[in-house]
Amino acid sequence: MTIQDEFHFIDKIKQKNNRHTLLVEGIGDDAAVYQTKNDYLEIVCADTMVEGVHFLKDASSPKDIGFKAVAVNISDVAAMGGIPKYYLVTIAVPKSWSEEELVELYTGMDEIAEVYHMDLIGGDTVSTSDKLVITVTVIGEVKRNRQRLRRDARPGDIVFVTGTIGDSAAGLQILLGNLSVNDEKDRSFLVNRHKRPSPQVKAGQILSSINRVSLNDISDGLASELNELCEASCVKMVIEKDKIPLSDSIRSLNSNQLDEWILYGGEDFELVGTVSPSLFDQLQKQCNEEGICLTVIGHVEAGHSEVILLDDGNETKLHKSGFNHFK
Ligand code: ADP
Ligand code: MG
Repeated sequence: MTIQDEFHFIDKIKQKNNRHTLLVEGIGDDAAVYQTKNDYLEIVCADTMVEGVHFLKDASSPKDIGFKAVAVNISDVAAMGGIPKYYLVTIAVPKSWSEEELVELYTGMDEIAEVYHMDLIGGDTVSTSDKLVITVTVIGEVKRNRQRLRRDARPGDIVFVTGTIGDSAAGLQILLGNLSVNDEKDRSFLVNRHKRPSPQVKAGQILSSINRVSLNDISDGLASELNELCEASCVKMVIEKDKIPLSDSIRSLNSNQLDEWILYGGEDFELVGTVSPSLFDQLQKQCNEEGICLTVIGHVEAGHSEVILLDDGNETKLHKSGFNHFK
């Protein structure tokens, strides 16, 4: 894209109206300016998606790609117990992407931004030779002392997850043509879980309403996220495989890859964490009232950092690494 194009383009993707009243200056000046609130901490995170690595242009529409690029960052804010507010987008654009496709990309981003009440407040546009690279930065807030950290798991806690696990990995296999699913409803459910994840901001809010919860979002796979919690908190976890919540759609596949998807698949963007057992019932009730499923999958013990999986009476150690694949 040329420089003249760039200004024309930015004009097209700019929001017509801002959603936040504390935003003083959005897109258009050298930098965005917004006011902060007392008693809140600012949260900021960024994630990059590279064409051919994190998405395939043939398999997902520009809208879906944009939606997901913002969703994965919202998920990180949710995992801190925060609320997302603003986002910035940097794109490195190759010749293979038309301006129309880029506008679609931003339409997908705005779709999810509208749901979570966020404003696009800036970014950068550069050209590149080969593949599209998109970096989204999200800014959010959390009430002071309500930030949810990985290092807060304690022996005696129970381990919980939100939602169902493994759907996104199964959806990816469908998209890649490695898996055929007869039932159209199951197929579209799983593909949608991959293309349009639902970051768990509401669950994060409920989980930040009490004193101590350790929390992480599931981007790289349950095994990896559990290990991260254990490492950060210097504790051991015991997970019961048959307690891990599965969707009816993934169950119906009867696949021998099920364990792979559940443990190492990733990109479900659900939350995983730990809490004192005495507080779990109350949290679960609050989640249920909001239509969120909170499920106990194991417990925390004192010991060196490791994750043990109980499966039919057998104990195995769960390692971080999963499988290499196009996500
Ligand atoms: P500067 O040269 O001062 O960095 P730019 O000309 O790059 O400014 O950008 C003009 C405005 O448009 C700024 O507010 C910037 O944040 C925004 N912007 C530029 N590129 C993008 C993009 N790809 N997505 C969203 N906003 C962008
Ligand atoms: Mg610039």
